[in-house]
Amino acid sequence: MESAVHGRLAPSPTGRLHLGHARSLLGAWWSARASGGHVNLRIEDLDESRCRAEYHDGLLEDLRWLGVDWDGEPLVQSRRQTAHREALARLHQGGWVYPCICTRKDIERAASAPHREDAGSLYPGTCRERFADAQAAWRASGSEPAWRFRSDRIGSVTWLDRLHGTQKVELAPTCGDFVVWTKAGRAAYQLAVVVDDAFQGASEVVRAKDLISSTHQQVALQQALELDTPSFAHLGMVVDPAGHRLAKRTGAHALASLRESGVAAIEIVSWAARSLGCQGADAPAPAWVERWDWQAVSADDVSAPEPWMGER
Ligand code: GLU
Repeated sequence: MESAVHGRLAPSPTGRLHLGHARSLLGAWWSARASGGHVNLRIEDLDESRCRAEYHDGLLEDLRWLGVDWDGEPLVQSRRQTAHREALARLHQGGWVYPCICTRKDIERAASAPHREDAGSLYPGTCRERFADAQAAWRASGSEPAWRFRSDRIGSVTWLDRLHGTQKVELAPTCGDFVVWTKAGRAAYQLAVVVDDAFQGASEVVRAKDLISSTHQQVALQQALELDTPSFAHLGMVVDPAGHRLAKRTGAHALASLRESGVAAIEIVSWAARSLGCQGADAPAPAWVERWDWQAVSADDVSAPEPWMGER
């Protein structure tokens, strides 16, 4: 057995969890529990425009239904403003960030985890040398500026993905000067994740591979803030019969809908386990912990079972 890892589950209450979330969350949980490690839960609710209280309750209900547990109280990200602001101040002191008054959708989007279809074009650097300080940016726009990370200061980032191998990218041409603080006065996803993963002591991050490009940014922020970089594993996506990844906003294939139509948790858990390389008869989530084996996990996308893909 590998040494005990400190795992984390970081769902966002922006819709009901679906089969793709179930698979990634179970994978993160199995990995941590199989190592004898802890699992923390964090509710990533910074995107006020998309997060809803009913989804918050819904994701706790779905996790419990799957048989996934966690240690301690869930950390609610929107209550971590002070720590997030302190990190921004540290980045500012270190000359890692600059204020930006560009009013673009990309700044709004930065509050959410940027899954692939949201990936916009790179920021052109308009505000990079524009303002002496935040007050000057404020005066120019009449409102609070966003803050962007100077990607050119990092050069390349290198990190190891357990399933995809060594990742090495030049940050500036890959991610541009990304937003770490939004005009709404909150940490963007990239900064909040880094600060809160460090706070929760996460030593392993297991999530779906649509967040690989975010990991480049998160590793850069860890370096700038002198925080440890956890180990990473980005699992393949769950796709529908047409090969499209499952979307949260449509609500289709939500665990809640499957549950209502009579699908049992053990069926979903067992499908997820087998799709992650585990072998054995159907069993509830805890029983798969001892069958977990990273050597058997493939990075490929997997299809959701046909019978679960009909209209509900
Ligand atoms: N909250 C993100 C999401 O639900 C996941 C973030 C992460 O695992 O780092 O997509």
